[in-house]
Amino acid sequence: MTRLYLDANATEPLCPAARGAALAAMETLGNPSSIHAPGRAARHILETAREAVARACLARPADVIFCSGATEANALAMHALGKGRPILVGATEHDSIRTAPSAAILRVNQDGTLDLAGLDETLAAQPGALVCLMAANNETGVLHDIEAAAKICAAHGALLHVDAVQAIGRANRGWLGMGAASFSLSGHKFGGPMGAGALIIRRGIEVEALTKGGGQEQGRRGGTQALPAIAGLAAAITQPYNNAQIASIRDEIEAFCTSLGAIAPGSTAPRLPNTTSLILPGVRAETQLIALDMAGIAVSAGSACSSGKLAASHVLTAMGYGEQAGQAIRVSLPWNVTADVVPLFTAAYAAMVKRCLRAPAHSA
Ligand code: PMP
Repeated sequence: MTRLYLDANATEPLCPAARGAALAAMETLGNPSSIHAPGRAARHILETAREAVARACLARPADVIFCSGATEANALAMHALGKGRPILVGATEHDSIRTAPSAAILRVNQDGTLDLAGLDETLAAQPGALVCLMAANNETGVLHDIEAAAKICAAHGALLHVDAVQAIGRANRGWLGMGAASFSLSGHKFGGPMGAGALIIRRGIEVEALTKGGGQEQGRRGGTQALPAIAGLAAAITQPYNNAQIASIRDEIEAFCTSLGAIAPGSTAPRLPNTTSLILPGVRAETQLIALDMAGIAVSAGSACSSGKLAASHVLTAMGYGEQAGQAIRVSLPWNVTADVVPLFTAAYAAMVKRCLRAPAHSA
């Protein structure tokens, strides 16, 4: 059976450059903290990776703290920046941000973008807060206007942390240059191996490690660095994505599905090129996911992190979709997608709609 992997926002396929760099690093003997020659060879791989990441992120090498992934990077950012400040998080944030203790929620508009007037109002009452916002939403692909949010934060003496996980490679920006204090990324979300991520943080901000260990990463994140995953992350971050072609494939799929009655939340907002969220009214997400899986197509319902427990999407709930928040699948196209997926996906979707709604549907 043809298997189509359309769940890139959960994890992207490994790109060849990342695979090569990770394998080479795996063959390198030595701990980057050791002083002898093998240690120095490992250190060279680590620091070359740090320079590549810094260049791609319009930051300095010293601004890059390598860690295990974005969950850890987000926790480290909130730990470093949130000391003594109230924490405000967008309603559609990933759980690694949204579930921070005592975080207050910032409203989003119906299209999933941040309510900027609401941010301004909230900060007027809580100046000097830490605001955490994602650059791009993992379920809908909707982009927050980080530049505008950064200006509002600056006007109220607030700090801004950006969860840039889904934007790297698809909607990269110089977030520090825009005024963010830090941003997070995760290698496997843009073609690197799982197990490495980074917090990029503005110079001069003190970071007390969450894990102290051997003082690695300038004492800001203890523990031996995952060299193969970091080398792969650095190789992947410079890979060009064909975003225009990916967007046109996404648009074709979305147009077909909406012609069969699906609703695409967030599709009127600026968003990632590879993502569409598709509500099929009256049909539970789980039913759709299983039907497509049986047809050889991998998509997800809501974020992958919550796919073991298929509750209604908090993202769609925040956008006002009520019961339909439990009736959406997410299609997220990987970097190596080709136009061949369109007839395969649309045929399977049409068959699923026909079966689930027991009504004639368009043929693909
Ligand atoms: N933020 C966002 C927006 C994400 O999509 C994810 C992964 N689903 C994370 C943070 C966490 O990344 P990781 O699981 O790689 O730590």
